[in-house]
Amino acid sequence: MEINPNYILEDCPICRGSGMVVHEGGWNVQVECTDCSAHTVYVEYANNDEKMKAEEQVVTLWNLGKVIKSEAGE
Ligand SMILES: [Zn+2]
Repeated sequence: MEINPNYILEDCPICRGSGMVVHEGGWNVQVECTDCSAHTVYVEYANNDEKMKAEEQVVTLWNLGKVIKSEAGE
């Protein structure tokens, strides 16, 4: 698995857990918290170049605290 070295994931803005870059279906990416399942929006990409930009975009959103809280929380 390739890791993009150009970004740093901050802790989860909700619970201070660990964020993780998650690719789904090979065409979109989001950052999701491994603890509370808060997540950013999905950003779609069509090729490797867009993929890196999409990763940077969701990481930026995450680091700004622009995340969606999971509604399934207890
Ligand atoms: Zn969290």
